[in-house]
Amino acid sequence: MSGKVYLVGAGPGSADLLTVRAARLIEQADVILHDALVCQEVLDLAPQARKILVGKRAGQVSTDQGFINRLLVASAKDGSIVVRLKGGDPMVFGRAHEEILACQKAGLDIEIVPGITTAVAAAAQIGTSLTRRGVSRSLAFVTPTIAKGSQNDTSWADVAVASQTCAIYMGAGQADSVRDTLMTRGLRADLPVVLVHDVGRPNAGHIAGHLNELPALAQNLGTGPAILLIGDVFADLSSHAAIDQLNSVRHA
Ligand code: SAH
Repeated sequence: MSGKVYLVGAGPGSADLLTVRAARLIEQADVILHDALVCQEVLDLAPQARKILVGKRAGQVSTDQGFINRLLVASAKDGSIVVRLKGGDPMVFGRAHEEILACQKAGLDIEIVPGITTAVAAAAQIGTSLTRRGVSRSLAFVTPTIAKGSQNDTSWADVAVASQTCAIYMGAGQADSVRDTLMTRGLRADLPVVLVHDVGRPNAGHIAGHLNELPALAQNLGTGPAILLIGDVFADLSSHAAIDQLNSVRHA
């Protein structure tokens, strides 16, 4: 008897940002295969489940995608309810395509449950709308990070330059090249940027400034995940940051 695979978005962190459907499935799962970005608080909803970390964090040893696909299929083959839990939304930079195909090829039933993607949760955290009448009516989700072997592909930047608000996933660790690429393509040095880190977690925070300062801003990040937001909608945050800096110099 074949089980069923649920590809579930865990949202940005805290368990109360899960959808009700996600929470219900997590509580019913026999097996949970989860990423490193999924918080303990969410996993604690499933004391009954066997939990397997198949994490991928940039710069760390990650589980091979083929291995994850095989594990997913093997876990469901005996009739188990398998929840494949991914941070944020599974369909946004989540390698969902590969896993959906693997399940379909194995003849397994698969259902997808959306989650709150980081860009949206980050906007809520910093209290700034990603779109605004008269300022931004386009929003792009991009990543400079690509498959091994195509490191010089900067086509992501075309979209970043063309949209009024841009959320850059997996980019905070390469702040120098992100800034250089975007400024070479004509984005303003004083364009507001915000690095929003540990979204949905107890140590959440943000660092605001301008595009030309991005590498210096990124140096103040800790080891948690961070998303980079760029656009004039963030002007208030970056001008406050500049005033704060001025005050700290005055008071030094
Ligand atoms: N599927 C996820 C994205 C996975 S890509 C989603 O929908 O959000 C991984 C990248 O997402 C990280 O490098 C970081 O840029 C961002 N990210 C994921 N979780 C985050 C969090 N809690 N806080 C800040 N950034 C996060």
